Amino acid sequence: MKKIIYIDMDGVMADFEKARSNHPLSRTTPFRGRPDTIPGIYKDLVPIEGAIESVNTLLDTPNYDVYFLSTAPWDNPEAWMHKRLWIDKYFETRKIRKRLILSHQKHLMIGDYLIDDRRFNGASEFKGKWIHFGSKDYPDWMSVMDYFANINQ
Ligand SMILES: [Mg+2]
Repeated sequence: MKKIIYIDMDGVMADFEKARSNHPLSRTTPFRGRPDTIPGIYKDLVPIEGAIESVNTLLDTPNYDVYFLSTAPWDNPEAWMHKRLWIDKYFETRKIRKRLILSHQKHLMIGDYLIDDRRFNGASEFKGKWIHFGSKDYPDWMSVMDYFANINQ
Protein backbone atom coordinates (compact mmCIF):
# COMPACT_ATOMS: atom_id res chain seq x y z
CA MET A 1 0.00 0.00 0.00
CA LYS A 2 1.18 3.51 -0.76
CA LYS A 3 2.51 5.60 2.09
CA ILE A 4 0.94 9.03 2.39
CA ILE A 5 3.34 11.94 2.85
CA TYR A 6 2.15 15.43 3.72
CA ILE A 7 4.53 18.32 3.11
CA ASP A 8 4.19 21.74 4.72
CA MET A 9 5.00 24.83 2.65
CA ASP A 10 6.36 27.76 4.69
CA GLY A 11 9.73 26.97 6.23
CA VAL A 12 9.88 23.61 4.45
CA MET A 13 9.46 24.33 0.73
CA ALA A 14 9.03 28.11 0.61
CA ASP A 15 11.23 30.64 2.38
CA PHE A 16 8.68 32.82 4.16
CA GLU A 17 11.25 34.05 6.67
CA LYS A 18 13.44 35.54 3.95
CA ALA A 19 10.45 37.35 2.41
CA ARG A 20 9.40 38.62 5.82
CA SER A 21 12.79 39.99 6.76
CA ASN A 22 13.22 41.68 3.37
CA HIS A 23 9.75 43.19 3.18
CA PRO A 24 9.49 46.97 3.75
CA LEU A 25 6.15 46.60 5.58
CA SER A 26 7.23 43.87 7.98
CA ARG A 27 8.31 46.33 10.69
CA THR A 28 5.34 48.67 10.36
CA THR A 29 1.88 48.68 11.92
CA PRO A 30 -0.27 46.60 11.55
CA PHE A 31 2.07 44.00 10.07
CA ARG A 32 4.70 43.88 12.79
CA GLY A 33 3.94 40.60 14.56
CA ARG A 34 1.50 39.63 11.80
CA PRO A 35 3.73 39.41 8.71
CA ASP A 36 1.43 36.70 7.38
CA THR A 37 -1.12 39.43 6.60
CA ILE A 38 1.20 41.54 4.42
CA PRO A 39 -0.49 41.85 1.00
CA GLY A 40 1.08 39.54 -1.58
CA ILE A 41 3.78 38.18 0.72
CA TYR A 42 3.07 34.54 -0.22
CA LYS A 43 3.12 35.17 -3.94
CA ASP A 44 6.83 35.20 -4.72
CA LEU A 45 8.48 33.18 -1.97
CA VAL A 46 11.76 31.63 -3.03
CA PRO A 47 12.16 27.87 -2.59
CA ILE A 48 14.16 26.49 0.31
CA GLU A 49 17.41 24.84 -0.72
CA GLY A 50 16.88 21.32 -2.04
CA ALA A 51 13.11 21.46 -1.64
CA ILE A 52 11.93 21.36 -5.23
CA GLU A 53 14.33 18.62 -6.25
CA SER A 54 13.57 16.53 -3.16
CA VAL A 55 9.80 16.88 -3.42
CA ASN A 56 9.97 15.94 -7.09
CA THR A 57 11.84 12.80 -6.09
CA LEU A 58 9.10 11.95 -3.58
CA LEU A 59 6.38 12.74 -6.15
CA ASP A 60 8.10 10.41 -8.62
CA THR A 61 8.38 7.53 -6.14
CA PRO A 62 5.55 5.10 -6.97
CA ASN A 63 4.96 3.88 -3.43
CA TYR A 64 4.42 7.40 -2.06
CA ASP A 65 1.29 9.48 -2.28
CA VAL A 66 2.37 13.09 -1.73
CA TYR A 67 0.16 16.01 -0.68
CA PHE A 68 0.96 19.56 0.30
CA LEU A 69 -0.49 20.37 3.70
CA SER A 70 -0.19 24.02 4.61
CA THR A 71 -1.99 26.53 6.77
CA ALA A 72 -2.98 29.77 5.05
CA PRO A 73 -3.72 32.75 7.27
CA TRP A 74 -7.44 33.14 7.95
CA ASP A 75 -7.10 36.91 7.86
CA ASN A 76 -5.30 36.97 4.50
CA PRO A 77 -7.58 35.24 1.98
CA GLU A 78 -5.38 36.02 -1.01
CA ALA A 79 -2.68 33.89 0.61
CA TRP A 80 -4.95 30.86 -0.04
CA MET A 81 -4.81 31.64 -3.75
CA HIS A 82 -1.11 32.41 -3.76
CA LYS A 83 -0.27 29.06 -2.20
CA ARG A 84 -2.18 27.30 -4.95
CA LEU A 85 -0.32 29.38 -7.57
CA TRP A 86 3.06 28.84 -5.88
CA ILE A 87 2.74 25.06 -6.11
CA ASP A 88 1.86 25.32 -9.78
CA LYS A 89 4.80 27.62 -10.46
CA TYR A 90 7.42 25.21 -9.16
CA PHE A 91 6.00 21.79 -10.06
CA GLU A 92 4.59 20.17 -13.15
CA THR A 93 0.82 20.59 -13.01
CA ARG A 94 0.12 16.94 -13.82
CA LYS A 95 2.09 15.87 -10.74
CA ILE A 96 0.52 18.22 -8.20
CA ARG A 97 -2.97 18.97 -9.48
CA LYS A 98 -5.53 18.78 -6.62
CA ARG A 99 -2.84 17.80 -4.10
CA LEU A 100 -2.90 20.99 -2.06
CA ILE A 101 -4.67 20.86 1.30
CA LEU A 102 -5.00 24.07 3.31
CA SER A 103 -5.97 23.45 6.92
CA HIS A 104 -5.60 24.77 10.44
CA GLN A 105 -6.25 21.20 11.70
CA LYS A 106 -3.37 19.08 10.45
CA HIS A 107 -3.96 16.46 13.15
CA LEU A 108 -7.19 15.43 11.38
CA MET A 109 -5.34 14.21 8.30
CA ILE A 110 -4.82 10.47 7.90
CA GLY A 111 -1.37 9.54 6.69
CA ASP A 112 2.07 8.18 7.41
CA TYR A 113 4.42 11.18 7.39
CA LEU A 114 4.17 14.92 7.89
CA ILE A 115 7.19 17.04 7.02
CA ASP A 116 6.67 20.27 8.94
CA ASP A 117 8.91 22.86 10.57
CA ARG A 118 6.49 23.91 13.31
CA ARG A 119 4.29 22.16 15.84
CA PHE A 120 1.31 24.48 15.33
CA ASN A 121 -2.05 23.91 13.62
CA GLY A 122 -2.07 20.28 14.69
CA ALA A 123 1.33 19.28 13.30
CA SER A 124 2.68 17.95 16.61
CA GLU A 125 -0.53 15.92 17.14
CA PHE A 126 -0.36 14.30 13.71
CA LYS A 127 -1.08 10.57 14.12
CA GLY A 128 1.68 9.44 11.75
CA LYS A 129 5.34 10.34 12.04
CA TRP A 130 6.09 14.04 12.29
CA ILE A 131 9.36 14.76 10.50
CA HIS A 132 10.31 17.97 12.26
CA PHE A 133 12.01 19.92 9.50
CA GLY A 134 14.75 22.25 10.76
CA SER A 135 15.22 20.28 13.98
CA LYS A 136 18.45 18.59 15.01
CA ASP A 137 17.35 15.29 13.46
CA TYR A 138 16.09 16.78 10.18
CA PRO A 139 17.91 20.08 9.66
CA ASP A 140 17.51 20.19 5.88
CA TRP A 141 16.19 18.35 2.83
CA MET A 142 19.30 16.21 2.55
CA SER A 143 18.64 14.70 5.97
CA VAL A 144 14.95 14.18 5.16
CA MET A 145 15.78 12.36 1.92
CA ASP A 146 18.38 10.26 3.76
CA TYR A 147 15.61 9.21 6.14
CA PHE A 148 13.31 8.12 3.31
CA ALA A 149 16.16 6.34 1.53
CA ASN A 150 16.94 4.34 4.66
CA ILE A 151 13.41 3.23 5.50
CA ASN A 152 13.17 1.63 2.07
CA GLN A 153 16.16 -0.63 2.56
MG1 LIG B 1 5.81 25.75 8.15
